Amino acid sequence: MTKQPIHIAWFRRDLRISDNAALTHALNQKIPVVALYIFDEAAPIRPLGGASKWWLHHSLLSLESSLKTLGIPLLLKNGRADHIFKELIDDYAVTSVTWQFHHDPGMRLRDKQVADYLQQQGIQAQIFPGNTLWDPATILTKQKHPYAVFTPFWHTCTAQDQPQFPLSVPEAQTHTIVLSHSDRLDDWALVPSSPDWACGIKTMWNVGESAALAHVKHFISTALSHYHTNRDIPGIQGTSLLSPHLHFGEISVNQAWHAVQTNSILHPDNKLGADCFLRELGWREFCAYLLYHHPHLLEQPFQRGFQTFPWKDDPVAFRAWSRGLTGYPIVDAGMRQLWQTGWMHNRVRMIVGSFLTKHLLLPWQQGEAWFFDTLVDADLASNIGGWQWIAGCGADAAPYFRIFNPQLQSERFDPQGTYIKAYLPELANLPAPWIHKPWETPESILRQAGIELGKTYPPPIIEHSKARDRAMAAYQQMKRS
Ligand code: FAD
Repeated sequence: MTKQPIHIAWFRRDLRISDNAALTHALNQKIPVVALYIFDEAAPIRPLGGASKWWLHHSLLSLESSLKTLGIPLLLKNGRADHIFKELIDDYAVTSVTWQFHHDPGMRLRDKQVADYLQQQGIQAQIFPGNTLWDPATILTKQKHPYAVFTPFWHTCTAQDQPQFPLSVPEAQTHTIVLSHSDRLDDWALVPSSPDWACGIKTMWNVGESAALAHVKHFISTALSHYHTNRDIPGIQGTSLLSPHLHFGEISVNQAWHAVQTNSILHPDNKLGADCFLRELGWREFCAYLLYHHPHLLEQPFQRGFQTFPWKDDPVAFRAWSRGLTGYPIVDAGMRQLWQTGWMHNRVRMIVGSFLTKHLLLPWQQGEAWFFDTLVDADLASNIGGWQWIAGCGADAAPYFRIFNPQLQSERFDPQGTYIKAYLPELANLPAPWIHKPWETPESILRQAGIELGKTYPPPIIEHSKARDRAMAAYQQMKRS
């Protein structure tokens, strides 16, 4: 039987049909296009965490229905990408393959193997940009080195041509394709069943491209004007919540950039908020850039001196931190928000990250792994960038000796305890200012609020000034070694 010639559009972290150069190019080839998603967890790819798997399941359902409107079937395959391509070449006359570049070091290695294999088979592989605003290879210092500091990096980026204007949804294909051997998504068991820990995540998020595009519009009309002042207040909806959509590529970073920038030109009142938002996209860009130029950051600190830091091995402290039972309300509220919703406010990510690495002296890699498993926006580059930054060992990082005082952070950014109360029901009746420091609260006020320290809510796992002194001593020990 003659095999049907096809073009494969390989979807990875670009689960959308608009502004998708790889897909648009595929459809321009005028031969039947098949979309492919490979669930590949083999080394060197880092396997997805639980919350990301949940998101991926729903995002693939959404992608499948968008692709249907273009007459494109979605082929699902589970296994090593190089093996899957071998299978597909046996089944079809694959003429060409397109995909979007990704800076993740594991994906780059794997993609190179796939591209080499396709080339040996005489199949054209074309790789398109799209995951970052600018090509990380082209942003270099005058001495042609990669930047290690955000501000000059961002100046150089923004002095380039504007990021590419988003492509619209391509026209549907008229070919009919009969797919053989697609996996059933349910068989990948990406969503939890018993127990179903994803109830809170389900309530909070709408997944998929249409939701992402609607979401950016909603953010622009409701929160952009005050983004620069509200983005640090966890008790209000002051940020975009776009991170999981951007991570899975349900909206491209170019689409987010241009939507916000165009709005700020039309509505100059939004300019301060818009500039601040675009700079945050810059941090995403910087994290991707650092990992692109320094793949060893996956395991090693950017500042090599930290390899000898005397981190502790303390499973009891780690458990208290991850369960939100440290006795510091702002830390515990953050960790419970993460568990319930798969997301945590950026300010609180910094507070809990500082607490883990400085108050508890636990290695940043342990926090990074927990976040990677529980965040719906778990992104290797941003997560590693965030953890190394807060631990003091990253590029352009906060110095190690800048140790957040959780009580002061809480008083400053959640003065009425609105955020804390949303995630710590056991403290719901404790008024400010006591909500920031239950351990100093008079017994009568605790009683009135129905709190028994040590029973309904824990006392602090470590006293702040003691933790500070211990962390500084550990830092001095590292410097001496
Ligand atoms: P907004 O404030 O609306 O920002 C818009 C977008 O800009 C975000 O969606 C995100 O893509 C990007 N962005 C904003 N701040 C940062 C930042 N500091 N670093 C990188 N990108 C940024 N972000 C992730 O997407 N995935 C992660 O796994 C992740 N882990 C983190 C771990 C730690 C310890 C810290 C301190 C930060 C981490 N961040 C991570 C960055 C940041 O906390 C989230 O991007 C942000 O909270 C997402 O919410 P938002 O979409 O409402 O952000």
